[in-house]
Order: sequence, then structure tokens, then C-alpha cells
Amino acid sequence: MKKALIIIDYTVDFVAKNGALTCGEPGQQLEEAILHHIHQFVNQEELVVFACDLHDENDPYHPETKLFPPHNIRNTKGRALFNHVQKLYDKIQHLPNVVWMDKTRYSSFAGTNLEQLLRERKINNLYLTGVCTDICVLHTAIDAYNKGFETFIFKDSVASFNLAGHDWALEHFKNSLGATIL
Ligand code: ZN
Repeated sequence: MKKALIIIDYTVDFVAKNGALTCGEPGQQLEEAILHHIHQFVNQEELVVFACDLHDENDPYHPETKLFPPHNIRNTKGRALFNHVQKLYDKIQHLPNVVWMDKTRYSSFAGTNLEQLLRERKINNLYLTGVCTDICVLHTAIDAYNKGFETFIFKDSVASFNLAGHDWALEHFKNSLGATIL
């Protein structure tokens, strides 16, 4: 394994029309591209990580409780992957190179074993997809930068509810984090 595909928060709550904190159409439009990238990485036996928010309702200790409506609450349908991505995950989840990763902060690295997983496998190249470009994808990319990973962003596979934030983040990935926009 040389590289890892990270699918960030591509869940019902963040993407579906009636999701609790949805990106709406820009998020839904990524589905085909994300499916394509997952197929490619699985076929090449590279690492595929589904990094998804996990929250408890009204958690008094969590900073997001004050910032956002409840989303990705434990054991709710909102935490399922969006549409066909969930169906594909169901088919491939038994594979040794497919990993589900609960996260509780924006960055996929915060409080998870993502870094160990990558270091153990000598993976240095990260390919980021999912939502939102300017929140969870951004924070993951910043951590990747600080930890010395090489980062690639599939432009067809990231989106945000905030178009200005999306565009700003793409520039930031390239100009300040040295990431490659694909
Ligand atoms: Zn959250």
C-alpha cells in the first residue's frame, strides 16, 4: 500500500436533502466521483478510510453542541453513508484495506488512530474527498501538512454548503499546504 483514500463525512446528515447539517446539492453531486475513486483504490488494494463524525446528542462537553444543530448522532440513520456509497461500503467493508473510522472533531486525525494506521503501512500520500471542503476536509489537510504527509485533493469529490469557503479552501490547500488539486 502506497496511498490512502479518505472519504470524510459523506453521510446522510451532511449530504442528503433532509440531512441534519446538509451541504445539499453540491454534496450530492459528488456521489459518482466518490464511488469511482473508492472502486479504483479498492481495485489497486490501496487503503480506503471512511472517516465519519460521531456525536452524542446534547453532549455538554463538545464544542460543536453550541455551534451546529445535532448531527451524526450515534445509532441514527443520519450517520449512514449517503446513498450508493453506503451500498458500496456494505459490499467492501470486509476487505482488509477498508477501514471505518469514527471521529469526533473536524480533523480525521483528531483523537483517532489514523496516523498510526498510515505510518504502520508506510503510506505517505493521502487523497482527500468528502465534505465540507472548508471544515472537515480543511482541518484534515492541515493536520496532514503538519505531520508531513503529501496531500492530494480530488476536486470532483469535495464540496461545501458555502461556495466562497469551498473556493478559498481549494486555494489554501494549494498555496499554503502544498497540496495537489486533482
Ligand atoms: Zn460534527
